[in-house]
Amino acid sequence: MRWNEMSYSGWGRALQATGEVARPERSKAVEAAAPVPAIGNRRSYGDACTNNGGRAVEMSRLDRVLSFNAETGLVEAEAGMPIGELARLFAPLGWMPAVMPGTGFATVGGCIAMDVHGKNHHVDGSFGAHVTAIRLVTNGRPKTITPKNKALFTATLGGLGQTGIILSATLQMKRCDGRGMEVTEQRAENWEEHIALLASSNAPYTVGWLDATAKGSKLGRGIVEEAITTAVEPQSSPAGASKSVPFNFPRITLSKAIVRGFNKAYYLRIRDGGQTRIKPLEEFFFPLDGIHNWNRLYGKQGFHQFQCVVPDDSLDALKAMVEKIAGSGLASPLAVLKRMGPDASGIMSFPMQGYTLAVDFRESPKARKLIAELNEDTLKAGGRIYFAKDSLATEEQAKAMYPDWRKWAAEANKADPSKALETDLTRRLGLRSE
Ligand SMILES: Cc1cc2nc3c(=O)[nH]c(=O)nc-3n(C[C@H](O)[C@H](O)[C@H](O)COP(=O)(O)OP(=O)(O)OC[C@H]3O[C@@H](n4cnc5c(N)ncnc54)[C@H](O)[C@@H]3O)c2cc1C
Repeated sequence: MRWNEMSYSGWGRALQATGEVARPERSKAVEAAAPVPAIGNRRSYGDACTNNGGRAVEMSRLDRVLSFNAETGLVEAEAGMPIGELARLFAPLGWMPAVMPGTGFATVGGCIAMDVHGKNHHVDGSFGAHVTAIRLVTNGRPKTITPKNKALFTATLGGLGQTGIILSATLQMKRCDGRGMEVTEQRAENWEEHIALLASSNAPYTVGWLDATAKGSKLGRGIVEEAITTAVEPQSSPAGASKSVPFNFPRITLSKAIVRGFNKAYYLRIRDGGQTRIKPLEEFFFPLDGIHNWNRLYGKQGFHQFQCVVPDDSLDALKAMVEKIAGSGLASPLAVLKRMGPDASGIMSFPMQGYTLAVDFRESPKARKLIAELNEDTLKAGGRIYFAKDSLATEEQAKAMYPDWRKWAAEANKADPSKALETDLTRRLGLRSE
């Protein structure tokens, strides 16, 4: 197998790594390379998918469907299969992955390792709840694990790739009516209305876009989207990745005034009383995937995403965080508010019953200071931050937010005694230091 020395990063591009990366095409080659950290399509924002100074195997060429049962919706796919590709292949047959994150480029392996959540977390839980088996190279050999192997299985779901390299997985997909989504959008004029709309939504898919620049009586305003699948064919075809950001944009692109103007126009695009449209599923689930390299909009230095979840009874603390963000003038137009259902199944999974907030910030000393404060606010509110997005949390914060980390570390250290699977994130946060 060829190992190429390269510089690479997560999606946020603020933290860079250099090391040897191989792109195997077959499971046997992965087994021969193990143990090394596996990476997917590097849609994690920070350093979860980098191994500075060491090796990594990129799994994107292992992207085959191994089996599919049209009666039950069970599909076995290789770990490098992008989740959006599974949706594209199977939605016309009446099945789609039960949980999909906001990008279709996330691979099956990456979705398991982060136990990702979608716009339906309040109804369907996280990705791991729909995984029936995982083929894993662990402790030197390939092995199939199921929920019956409770300790290793729950350490692997949301396990940051630390229990082994995922070769393939069997997923229980969910019935859908076709490749169309009936999407209803309505304005929420302020924080209280926004939360009330999210809390009362009975739709299977619900998400809020937040104008993180709005202050005062408009604080927390946004657009709540609710959706169901539909057999009605969408008029427009999915954009695919037809557009591309060709170079790093200059700082001015996301200046305070431009972001405020953009957000206002985006908010006002929704008619009074709301509007309903049929969209291709890609447009609803993966709204940014149509623009290749959109992360270059933040310029050469890259950006960070802050994402936290706080329990239902900490909504005041979350509102105070939104106030702090709006007051800072540092937010970009990308800000999302979502309701989450009960805790997830993995020991280190992110979701918990409550509300999650995600906001992008261009990299700068001021942004780092703000995120450090928000991380602390999250901890005080009894919440946690999401490792898929993090690049700035401290070891103390991470361990306090994930109190079961020792139990998980013991399992990971059993599966990988030489700690050869460690990534920059697990080293930075000392998560394997049990
Ligand atoms: C635009 C955008 C929207 C997003 N929206 C959401 C969202 O709504 N919900 C959500 O939960 N997340 C969301 N994410 C985050 C994303 O879904 C996760 O970071 C996901 O893990 C990325 O998958 P990947 O294949 O790119 O994995 P990578 O980023 O390459 O790796 C992520 C982790 O998985 C491990 N890993 C990857 N493949 C394997 C494997 N085969 N075996 C073992 N370990 C492996 C890596 O070691 C690393 O720890 C979003 C990201 C973007 C860019």
